[in-house]
Amino acid sequence: MDNHKKILELRKILHEHNHLYYVKNEPKISDYEFDLMLNELEKLELEYPEFDDPNSPTKRVGSSLSNDFKATVHNFQMYSLENSYSRADLIDWENRIRKKIDSSQISYCCELKLDGVSVSLSYKNGDLVQGLTRGDGVNGDDITENLKTIKTIPLKIDSKIDFDIRGEVIIEKSDFDKLNASRVLKGESKYMNPRNTASGSIKLINSREVSQRPLKCYSFQIVGNDLSFRSQIESLKFAEEQGFNILDSYKFCKNLDEVFEFLDYWEHKKNSLNFEIDGVVVKVNKLEFQNQLGYTSKFPRWAIAYKFKTEQAISKLLSIDYQVGRTGAITPVANLQPVLLNGTIVKRASLHNSDQIKKIDLHENDFVFIEKGGEIIPKIVSVDKQKRINNSKPVVFTKTCPSCKSILTKVEGEAQHYCLNHKNCHPQILGRIKHFISRKAMNIDGFGTETVDRLLENNMIKNFSDIYYLTKEKICSLERMGEKSAINLIDSIINSKNQPFHKVLYSLGIRYVGETVSKKICKEVRSIDELINLKYDQIILIDEIGEKIAHSLINYFNDEDNIRLINELKLIGLNFESNNRTISSKLNNGKFVISGTFEEIDRNSLKNLIEINGGKLSSSISSKTDFLIKGENVGPSKLKKAQQLGVKTISFSEFINYFKIDLND
Ligand code: AMP
Ligand code: ZN
Repeated sequence: MDNHKKILELRKILHEHNHLYYVKNEPKISDYEFDLMLNELEKLELEYPEFDDPNSPTKRVGSSLSNDFKATVHNFQMYSLENSYSRADLIDWENRIRKKIDSSQISYCCELKLDGVSVSLSYKNGDLVQGLTRGDGVNGDDITENLKTIKTIPLKIDSKIDFDIRGEVIIEKSDFDKLNASRVLKGESKYMNPRNTASGSIKLINSREVSQRPLKCYSFQIVGNDLSFRSQIESLKFAEEQGFNILDSYKFCKNLDEVFEFLDYWEHKKNSLNFEIDGVVVKVNKLEFQNQLGYTSKFPRWAIAYKFKTEQAISKLLSIDYQVGRTGAITPVANLQPVLLNGTIVKRASLHNSDQIKKIDLHENDFVFIEKGGEIIPKIVSVDKQKRINNSKPVVFTKTCPSCKSILTKVEGEAQHYCLNHKNCHPQILGRIKHFISRKAMNIDGFGTETVDRLLENNMIKNFSDIYYLTKEKICSLERMGEKSAINLIDSIINSKNQPFHKVLYSLGIRYVGETVSKKICKEVRSIDELINLKYDQIILIDEIGEKIAHSLINYFNDEDNIRLINELKLIGLNFESNNRTISSKLNNGKFVISGTFEEIDRNSLKNLIEINGGKLSSSISSKTDFLIKGENVGPSKLKKAQQLGVKTISFSEFINYFKIDLND
């Protein structure tokens, strides 16, 4: 057989077995046989690069080249879903629909609402050609290379009709547990939850790394111009035939009563699923009706999400721990008798602060109701007073710091207690250093919490500045620190000296000076010295800086130790000035010309935006110009010149999307 034919045949067979294994869960050959064929195909492809195919089964392993996620316009807008929380909401919804459709018979397709990341896949002439994130619905990020590594996404299909198909990328619970178990073995920290891990994974720079993550894609919606099916149910069947991974729990419901049955069933059964759902999606089944109903600016009118009620569990309070944060704030955390909530065992729950404890009137040994919010740690929402033991004592908030035993203080009007022993209280020192090196601050990676802990224990660092005196030898002297990791760590320490002023200011960990506040301050003052010399009255004149922040800054700079620390960091070479106020180099010295007026932004702000992101401005177009940003009433001569010289012309929104400019900067 000739080699091209052989390659094509192997690809076809491998695509089929992939589908049998990953989508149908019915493998017909052993992994060994599969790998043999895959190896053979790889060899042939290497030998005959002229027969390359970007959708070959060999491409599933991903590549270690850097991805760039270009903002790309969706072929069809991706909408969000309207939410409903009760049967009454659904009845209202049906009544609204009835007004628009003259039919008494509206039937529905009910589907589980997977809680993952939505993506849109485009197929052309049987090939997967593009995969985008939802983005803002109009534009998404191009993550094609990453999506191709997900084996439940077919790279080739039989149908030659072009369409986009939407799906949810998730990590199943059992895969998530395995992933975390293997991280613990490697001394890495656990991931928080499957949803966030899936959304982080899908945007990894390196698609080979994505291929290592246990991602799955479930598809649920097809959009296109030449579709032959007439209902949502038919479209799901079509998708399944084409090899897409479909949840088989979908159900045809001929009226709302049947929809309610579906809701009841899954409300009780949802914890037995191997993936997380946050409700059910009810869709009008007939496409003809869907078309009549159309869309609002945000939602389809023909579909609605029904969200399950927040689940509660009841458990017994065993004891309370007090945790010390980096600013000295004390958070009470309850230890509970283990109890099952939303499918996971809960042993601890947050109590927020002493006011909250008083508000719910918590007593020792009480039975408490707990809920899971968006956070990892569940919260206690109320007490079951009927189960209270007679004469049980009210919980008394601790008077002293659990770590350094200092007497705590509470400022009138604030909820939180504080340990003021900032300089010698271990968890505060640890917390400040962790904050300093964190991604949004100095971004020094390679420093696990454990490493920081050991450096502190061995007195190798006491404050931020000591980090910059670490040497490879010193780091290697720590247990479990290899030479390669030490070199990486040193590199990343050196790199951190390039962080801009506003990040350095944020890194100092001054109370109430978060990311946004830092940015605001650095827009107004050019250097730390200027800031240190400002009087209280001047500080509160800065946009959005109130009394609390102003006091906190004054206090911080009144402390000689802090000034000494800042001076030392200055000598080390950290950026305490924003001479040109550049906050990013996203525009990479590109040359821009602006013409016309803009609905979204005034010209001065746009100029400023270009400059602070590292772009250069000029007033006229030349062969050196990289981009013309055009608004309304753009000057015709400018436009013409741009065309003649081949200068790219873009709109404001294209500019923002293309360069990923953050308008809050
Ligand atoms: P929301 O993000 O709350 O606006 O909900 C809309 C999202 O629900 C969509 O973007 C989808 O990613 C997701 N979703 C999950 N399962 C389904 C489904 N069966 N049908 C439609 N959307 C779904
Ligand atoms: Zn303390």
